[in-house]
Amino acid sequence: MKFDYICSECGRVYDIKADLMVCPVCAEKQEADQPLAGVLEVRLTGKADSSFDLFELLPVEKEYFPPSPVGNTPLWEPENLRNRTGFPNLFIKDDGANPTSSFKDRASWLVSAFAKKNGIDNIVLASTGNAGSSMAGIGAAAGQRITIFLPETAPPAKIIQALQYGADVYKVAGNYDLAYDFSMAYSRKAGGMNRNTAYNPMTIEGKKTVSLELFKQMGKAPDYLFVSVGDGCIIGGIYKGFEDLKKLGIIDRIPVIFGVQAEGSDALYRADRDGRFTNLPTATVADSICVDVPRNGVYALNKVRSNKGRFIRVSDNQIIAAQADLSASAGLFTEPAGATAWAGFLQVAGELDKDASVVILATGNGLKDTATALKGIRMPEHSISSIDEI
Ligand SMILES: *Cc1c(COP(=O)(O)O)cnc(C)c1O
Repeated sequence: MKFDYICSECGRVYDIKADLMVCPVCAEKQEADQPLAGVLEVRLTGKADSSFDLFELLPVEKEYFPPSPVGNTPLWEPENLRNRTGFPNLFIKDDGANPTSSFKDRASWLVSAFAKKNGIDNIVLASTGNAGSSMAGIGAAAGQRITIFLPETAPPAKIIQALQYGADVYKVAGNYDLAYDFSMAYSRKAGGMNRNTAYNPMTIEGKKTVSLELFKQMGKAPDYLFVSVGDGCIIGGIYKGFEDLKKLGIIDRIPVIFGVQAEGSDALYRADRDGRFTNLPTATVADSICVDVPRNGVYALNKVRSNKGRFIRVSDNQIIAAQADLSASAGLFTEPAGATAWAGFLQVAGELDKDASVVILATGNGLKDTATALKGIRMPEHSISSIDEI
């Protein structure tokens, strides 16, 4: 297999190099408060069949990957939810089962390998919480030094995780967008590899592994897939994975993907509706998908449009209810951003064919943000001293 970069906007082709992150020509046109210009996509050329090995389809050789068991996450067959919704082919992909308990490990894993291959041992990034704790954990296994910029409002568990893994953590007095700017400035000063989502092309490429795995687990591509969307890096990566499989002739149809956003952070939904990106202040209980400017916005929007996917929105109340529903009905405790995908499915299920195969992507473990989870349940108000009080 041969790999190079192709600019997702102008189509220029480049050799893969550690110091090339975005298309230098398109990056000239970068405007403030707009998604990244000139996002590079890894292009694969060669032959493989349905018995492919995952590493064959990745642009870094197996020997460079850190010894963390990323991916191969379980595909749940939630019987109660299948019966209740009338969808016998409903599945939940539990990416909270990754080493640091979120989907982000797929990107960190490939970035870590890419850095190792290029002899780089310090990695810098901005994060709402999960990308940082993920890179910290995967980097720890690889022996790399990780520097993270996070919004001060990031859930404590995610910050504690990053510190446990030994990363250098800076809380910024502002939101993710400010953390992003700081991380870029720091990278320019301190060097190393930047793992910012979408900016580092390996983040999108790493995320495609979930599509390859789903093909292996199901023996085909699903009909529908639901995933929550913030920066648009996950949904872009999922499409990229299925596109690779189609290009290789392994599948003949790409799933219809629903990108689910929170009403309070819906930049991609609005861009799809209005034809341009506008920057509005954001707020949602699903911290992992709370972003003002979706960094991978242009790329994600193109992928969704060209593959006839859809963006939908759900409210915070729907997210909180969906989180408690998944926990109580399936026994799967996922963080609010993970439950957002379930809320999206419940919203549009009436429009879908019941025999269709549907995958819900649960992107993070529920223990990462217990404060929000508390909103969907009732904590016992007082302690009992005898069972007679029941
Ligand atoms: C990052 C993240 C998302 C959203 O991914 P984007 O690439 O920002 O769209 C969804 N769920 C969880 C748990 C995440 O950490």
